[in-house]
Amino acid sequence: DVVSPVAASEAEIAFEGALRPRSLAEFVGQKKVRGQLQLLLDAAAIQQRTPDHILLAGPPGLGKTTLAMIVAQETDRPLRLTSGPAIQHAGDLAAVLSSLVPGEVLFIDEIHRMARSAEEMLYLAMEDFRIDIMVGKGAGATSIPLDLAPFTLVGATTRAGLLPNPLRDRFGFTAHLEFYETEELVRVIERAAQLLGVTIGAEALVEIASRSRGTPRIANRLLRRVRDYALVEGGDATLAVVQAALHLYDVDELGLDRLDRAVMTTILQRFDGGPVGLSTLAVSVGEEAETIESVVEPFLVRIGLLSRTPRGRVATKAGWAHFGVVRQSDALF
Ligand code: ADP
Repeated sequence: DVVSPVAASEAEIAFEGALRPRSLAEFVGQKKVRGQLQLLLDAAAIQQRTPDHILLAGPPGLGKTTLAMIVAQETDRPLRLTSGPAIQHAGDLAAVLSSLVPGEVLFIDEIHRMARSAEEMLYLAMEDFRIDIMVGKGAGATSIPLDLAPFTLVGATTRAGLLPNPLRDRFGFTAHLEFYETEELVRVIERAAQLLGVTIGAEALVEIASRSRGTPRIANRLLRRVRDYALVEGGDATLAVVQAALHLYDVDELGLDRLDRAVMTTILQRFDGGPVGLSTLAVSVGEEAETIESVVEPFLVRIGLLSRTPRGRVATKAGWAHFGVVRQSDALF
């Protein structure tokens, strides 16, 4: 899916790696978060200690992994990458923590999906750089304390609200990443085009940016499709080429993806515009409620097609207009 905000394949991960900014100065947008992070890193450098633990919250593709890499790069520390789903037992986490070198940056993606038992181990590790390892079972079980090398945890989550309070409280700083403005995405694409050696005009840049769902990952991906199209046509990436390429890949003017469209048309057609509850909606489109809530809805709300009310999800006037659907209750009379 060209507009899915989640990285799709090994090839895409390699492509993304090549385009990743390597410093805070190169990182486009998120001005406030950049300033806050810079201060946190500078203060730690002055005091010659490991920077505080950092939680990065926000929808996929907005730069959480990139920021974790930048934290390691800027502080000249090694980086270890893992993810919540990879930590199914406390033992999985103990293995990672006990092998960290002093000062290492540990990135845990999707930290809200870590096993509960591991979460509890992490509290102590974050606070005191220490864990208790349980040995044996039942009455003979004992716990052996183990000192860890000091480290900086960078956690990423699409669902900050799902993290238990004791875990959230142990981060010295939480950054909420926002969708990017079109002008910011223009800069992301301009930079990527330079790295890829693609010649692209101002109008074409804006066209890609405005259809990228506020998401740098999607912007880079659309640029790649446009580059392919231009390559095959044997010309530059003009506005006409951008429009033709995006048309070929079914990217609409707002950059909505298939799931965005499924959610909206379900609310409009099956529920006459709502209100409809999250779980009913999830069952109707055949997707997990968590994905709808953390990936799909934030963008639909941000561009004004959907509103979340205490009674459920409701399509806005703009939502009806964008999909050109007539409300059943209006059509009856
Ligand atoms: P997340 O971890 O939030 O899903 P990533 O950090 O993997 O997102 O970013 C996805 C892609 O978007 C990467 O290839 C990265 O190069 C690009 N990207 C993200 N944020 C920015 C930014 N602020 N400036 C430039 N490129 C960015």
